[in-house]
Amino acid sequence: MHLTLLGSGGDSPTPMPTCDCRVCGPAREEGLPHARLGNSTYVHDANAVVDAPESIWAMLNRERVSEVDYLFLSHHHVDHVAGLRVVQAIGRPAFPIADWDNVDPVTVVLSETTYDRLDRSMDLETEYDEMGYAEFEFLGDGETMSLDSGVEVTGIGAPLDPDGPADAAMGFCFADGESTALVFPDETTVLDLSKVPDHLDLWIKECGMFRETGAGEPILTDELWAEEREAQTTFDQTVEQVREVGPERAILTEIEEIYRRRPDEYAELAAELEREHEELNLEFGRDGMDVEV
Ligand SMILES: [Zn+2]
Ligand SMILES: [Zn+2]
Repeated sequence: MHLTLLGSGGDSPTPMPTCDCRVCGPAREEGLPHARLGNSTYVHDANAVVDAPESIWAMLNRERVSEVDYLFLSHHHVDHVAGLRVVQAIGRPAFPIADWDNVDPVTVVLSETTYDRLDRSMDLETEYDEMGYAEFEFLGDGETMSLDSGVEVTGIGAPLDPDGPADAAMGFCFADGESTALVFPDETTVLDLSKVPDHLDLWIKECGMFRETGAGEPILTDELWAEEREAQTTFDQTVEQVREVGPERAILTEIEEIYRRRPDEYAELAAELEREHEELNLEFGRDGMDVEV
C-alpha cells in the first residue's frame, strides 16, 4: 500500500503566523522539512484522505493529488475538520454549469457521534448534503466497509474521555489483502489496544505531548501539564502504545509547533529510542513523506 503523509503538524502548525522561534524561523525561510501543515494522510490505493484540517487545500495541491473519492474524519475537533469545505472543489460540474451539484461527490466517512457533533457546528445537512457537495456514510467501532477500489476499511473507536461514546474518535484500518495500515491520527489516550489488529504493517499515530522542549525547557506549567495529561496523549504514552502494539513501522504525526524541536532532533530522538528498545520501528513524520508498506 502506498500512503503520503500530507501534513505532519497538529493543532499548532509550523510556522505559526507572527512567531519567530527556532522552529518557525527555518520553516518560514526554507519550508520543508521544517514546515508542518495540519494532520492529514492520503491513501493512494483507496483515493482516500484521512482528516481535513484548514490546510488541506494547500496540501492536496502541493502533493499533486488528483483523485479523492473518500474523506474519512477521525473526530470532530476543529483542527481535523476545519477544511471540510474542500469537498466542494472536488468533482465540480463542467462548464456551462447548469446547477451546483458536484459530479460524483466525495463520500465523507465518519462515526455517528462525529456526524452529530459536526452537524451542530457546521450544519452538514444544509451546507454539504443538500448542496450536493458530499455524501455521508457512517462507519462505527468494529465495522468494516469495502471501498470501490476493493480496499477494506475497518473502524476502530476510542472515547475522548473514559465515560464518552466509544466512537467519538476513530482510527481507520486500511487492508488491501497484502498489507494493513492503521491511520489513527489523534486521540488514542483511552484507546483499548486490544482492538488493534495483531499484525500492522504501518501505524500512523499522534506524537503526543512532550513535557519539555529539546533544550529542557518546560512547555507547560506544572499545573497545566497535570490537567492536560489527564485528557491528552503524552509522548511517553505513545512510545508505550507503539511498544505494546508492535507495528512493522510507526510514523508519528500531530507534531506540534510548541514542542520546538527540529527535524534532525526528532531523527536523533528516534535513533535513541531504537537503541533503548530495539525494533520499536518508530519514525517522526514530515510533510509530503511517502510511505510504501
Ligand atoms: Zn514558533
Ligand atoms: Zn483532537
